Amino acid sequence: MGVHDGLDLARQDWFGSAEWDRDEDAWGRAWAEAYLTFAATEKRAWLRERGVTFFPVVGWAERGGYTASGHGNSVPRFHITWGTGPGILEPFIDAVRAGVEAGRVELRFRHRVDELVVEAGAVVGARGAVLADDDAERGAASSRDVVGDFEVRGAAVVVASGGIGGNHELVRAAWPDWLGTPPEKMLSGVPAHVDGRMLGISETAGARLVNGDRMWHYVEGIENYAPVWEQHGIRILPGPSSMWFDATGARLPVPLFPGFDTLGTLQYLRELGHDHSWFVLDQAIIEKEFALSGSEQNPDLTGKSVRELLRQRLGRGATEPVEAFKEKGPDFVVADTLDDLLAGMRERNDGIELDGTRIAVELGARDRELANPFAKDLQVVALRGARRYLGDKLIRVAKPHRILDPKRGPLIAVKLHVLTRKSLGGIQTDLSARALAADGAPVPGLYAVGEAAGFGGGGIHGYRALEGTFLGACLFTGRTAGRAIAAAL
Ligand SMILES: Cc1cc2nc3c(=O)[nH]c(=O)nc-3n(C[C@H](O)[C@H](O)[C@H](O)COP(=O)(O)OP(=O)(O)OC[C@H]3O[C@@H](n4cnc5c(N)ncnc54)[C@H](O)[C@@H]3O)c2cc1C
Repeated sequence: MGVHDGLDLARQDWFGSAEWDRDEDAWGRAWAEAYLTFAATEKRAWLRERGVTFFPVVGWAERGGYTASGHGNSVPRFHITWGTGPGILEPFIDAVRAGVEAGRVELRFRHRVDELVVEAGAVVGARGAVLADDDAERGAASSRDVVGDFEVRGAAVVVASGGIGGNHELVRAAWPDWLGTPPEKMLSGVPAHVDGRMLGISETAGARLVNGDRMWHYVEGIENYAPVWEQHGIRILPGPSSMWFDATGARLPVPLFPGFDTLGTLQYLRELGHDHSWFVLDQAIIEKEFALSGSEQNPDLTGKSVRELLRQRLGRGATEPVEAFKEKGPDFVVADTLDDLLAGMRERNDGIELDGTRIAVELGARDRELANPFAKDLQVVALRGARRYLGDKLIRVAKPHRILDPKRGPLIAVKLHVLTRKSLGGIQTDLSARALAADGAPVPGLYAVGEAAGFGGGGIHGYRALEGTFLGACLFTGRTAGRAIAAAL
């Protein structure tokens, strides 16, 4: 795709985003260095060996908008797995199933760990409740009825229980001061099983939890019109052209454009104190720039269908899932005139006064900036810069045009909510994925991987992420733990 990237540039961006400032960051930082080296060397070949391939157009997430040493990706890096989430899981599930067939692996579904078994200071197993069978669909909350109990023992115990994003009580309790107050209304970007219980259970067994106040929530959440779990929200993966307004109708400041700085935008909006904000765009922008996060929202990529992909992404209109949200989603307002659009926004503005004149002035001023190939408005400048990257030009960034041009219509406004997603902190681990105690020594027998370990070390990302780095770090921490345990046995 003509992108020149490398270890030094990746480190510059990662460290510029992480802004580590705590003693306990030493392990997160060491994991970041190890992960960057993995990503720059063997990661691609290792995944290919397992049959994992990628959609060829690399996406540009978290564009930053600050100086070169600040937050964000200097270049596009977001690789979408061919087959999305299920595609990345496939080879690993196959390996586990082969283990089951060979009698080396036993799967115990519906077993909920409530306690880690500690003997003479070492973690030697887990015990908990056996839950009643339930045929709930994937992601839907299942019954918590207890029908029995269990205890398992092993030479090593690996906590791989994920984050806390499905437990709003925990999210609120851990919310840091620098992000203002948590919104009264939040959507859940993860299913209810992401409940954070295992973190407390691991702490009771001797593990040190760090950076619980670092979290990664999105500001572009929309209510799912067909929810699978409670308060189910979907994240819009926005291209950079939509105009972003707060709940009163003021445009967000530079560089808080769509897809530039997730937490910077969250911080700004929480300081203002309203729970929602607005994108204003048009049909031409939604068609090229709106994507939705989640395997079920990308049936072409998840189903690995090139024909569907070409039809959905290069054909007329937005993708079918985006069009469905536009039609049925409660957060979408579609109108032929700005007056009608503003009327629809007011109806959904939760009683907050919306300054329509201000929105009209901002849209008019921004549109006037398009008369020349150069401009003052930094969002317009960024759009033109983005289109110099082939991937953005092909499928991600609409040709700059006047939003109020009726030929590009209808006009669209989207009400955006805060959507909980990832926990950046967790169980502190060393570079062998061994859980560490408060004194810095490994807790014998205990390992932690994935989101439960803050994706490595209890916080591989520091304060902010570059995006797309979560699954990669889950794989890397899991592989590291597996190798360390095999070597120790
Ligand atoms: C919609 C969506 C889109 C995403 N997109 C991306 C992306 O594009 N790129 C990226 O890098 N990341 C993405 N992520 C984030 C990424 O998917 C997660 O961070 C990652 O899957 C976490 O993996 P994990 O194995 O650590 O935990 P999980 O996948 O959450 O798995 C934890 C497991 O532990 C089980 N468990 C928890 N507690 C217990 C207990 N007490 N007893 C027994 N079992 C328990 C849970 O049931 C679950 O099966 C996305 C997440 C979502 C929800």
